[in-house]
Amino acid sequence: MEQACADLPFRADLIGAGKSYLTITFGCQANEFDTEVFAGMLESAGYRRAAGPGDADLILLNTCSVRQKPEDKVAGMLGRLRKLKEEREGLTIVVAGCMAQRPSAAADLARRFPFLDLIVGTHALPRFPQLLEQAGRSRRPLIDIAAENEGREGLPVVRSSSFKAWLPVIHGCNNFCSYCIVPHVRGRERSRPFAEIVEEARSLEESGYLEITLLGQNVNSYGHDLAEGERADFAALLEALDRLEGKARIRFMTSHPKDLSPRLIEMMGRGKKICEHLHLPAQAGSNRILEGMNRSYTRERYLGLVGALKKEVPGIALTTDLMVGFPGETEADFQETLALLDEAEFDHAYTFIYSPRPGTRAAEMEEQLSFAEKNERLQRLASRQNEISLRLNRALLGQTFELLVEGRSKNNPEMFSGRTRTNKLVHFAAAEELSGKLVAVEITEAFTWYLAGERV
Ligand code: SF4
Repeated sequence: MEQACADLPFRADLIGAGKSYLTITFGCQANEFDTEVFAGMLESAGYRRAAGPGDADLILLNTCSVRQKPEDKVAGMLGRLRKLKEEREGLTIVVAGCMAQRPSAAADLARRFPFLDLIVGTHALPRFPQLLEQAGRSRRPLIDIAAENEGREGLPVVRSSSFKAWLPVIHGCNNFCSYCIVPHVRGRERSRPFAEIVEEARSLEESGYLEITLLGQNVNSYGHDLAEGERADFAALLEALDRLEGKARIRFMTSHPKDLSPRLIEMMGRGKKICEHLHLPAQAGSNRILEGMNRSYTRERYLGLVGALKKEVPGIALTTDLMVGFPGETEADFQETLALLDEAEFDHAYTFIYSPRPGTRAAEMEEQLSFAEKNERLQRLASRQNEISLRLNRALLGQTFELLVEGRSKNNPEMFSGRTRTNKLVHFAAAEELSGKLVAVEITEAFTWYLAGERV
C-alpha cells in the first residue's frame, strides 16, 4: 500500500504529469525515509514510479557521506548514467542527501558531472519541488545547499512498505564525534513535537502497520530541545507509544550510549510493544581511542549498560558498530576492542574501517594507519564476532519465535524471510502468501548471519 498525505504543503503544479521517476538510496535508515519523502513530493507533482532506469524521466540518487565508499559508488553510478543522459532527451538527474550537502563534494560533483540537473542538500529537502521546477529553466546543475535546516513537517510521504514504517522523532546530531560528518550535513538536533509523533504512530497502527521504527541520529537525546512545558524524554515517548491500542512492534535507532538512561532501560523491559533489540554503537573498546573519538563514555560505562540491559530486558539481542584503524590506534587498543566483543557478547557487529572525512577533526589527526593495517584488523575483528554470532544463534535451536514476514526469497518462491522481535533474520518454507503477516516459527538450523525454521 502506498500512502501520501492529502494535505500538501505546496501547490504541486504537476510538472511531472505523465512522467515517471526512479529513486536510488545509499546509506542509513534516515536516508531511506528521506527517499520516501522525495517520492511523496514527486508523486504529488504528478510523477509515477518507473519500472527501471530505462523508463524513468527523472532519476534521483539519495547519497551518503559517512564513508568514502558510498561516495565512490555514487560517482561510479553517475559515470554510467552519463550515457543514458546523452541518449535520452529530457532525462532529469538529481543528486540529493548528505554528499550533496557537503560543499566540497557538491562542487566536485558539479565539475565532474556537468550534465546533472539538480544537486540538493539535506537542508533544502522541503523546497525540492520548487527547485526541480527551477532546474528545468536554469543552467545546470542547479545547486542548493542551504546553510539552515528547513522545517519538514507536513511533507507528503510514499511509504515503500505496507507493514513496516519509519517514523523520525529527532533530526540532526549535537555530538560531533571526531570522525563523523553527520552533524556537519544534517545540522543540530531538532526534536519533533511529542503529540505529533504519537498521533502519527496511532494513525500508522490504524492503517495496519505492524512495525514502527523510530528514527534519529541519536534517539536517546529526544526531547531536550522541546519548548518548556512540552519537554519530555525518549522513555516518556516510548511509554506513550506502548500505551496506544494498536499492536505494532516498536523499534528505534540509533542510540548513543552516553544518553541511554536507566529510565529508558527500565521502559524497554516493561514495554509490551517495544522489541527486545538494541543497536548500541560501541565504536571501540579502548578508553584512549574513545576519548579521541569524542564519544563521552568509557568501556566500563558501556559494559555497565550492557549488563543492565541484559538484566532488565530478558532475551535482548544487542548489536553494535565497531570501527578499526582510528588515527593512533595501536595493537594494544585493538586488543581491547576484541576483548569488548567477548565481554559484551553482541549478537551482531557492523564492523568498519575508519575512513577520513574531510572537515572532521579526526581527518586532521596525525598517525593515520595504512589501509593494509586497518584491513588486517578488520578481518580479525569480523572473524571473532562471527564465532560469537554463531554460538548465540545455535543457542536458539528448538525455540519458537514470532516473525514479521518481510517477503519471499527471490531465488526460491517457496521460501519466506522474516524478523523476530530481536531482529534476527529467519528463513522458512510456506506455500501460501505470508508477506506482512505475523507467524510463529521454530528454529531448526543456525548459521552466523541467519536462522532457518519451520512454521508451527
Ligand atoms: S552520535 Fe556521533 S557518530 Fe552518531 S551521528 Fe552523531 S556525531 Fe555521528
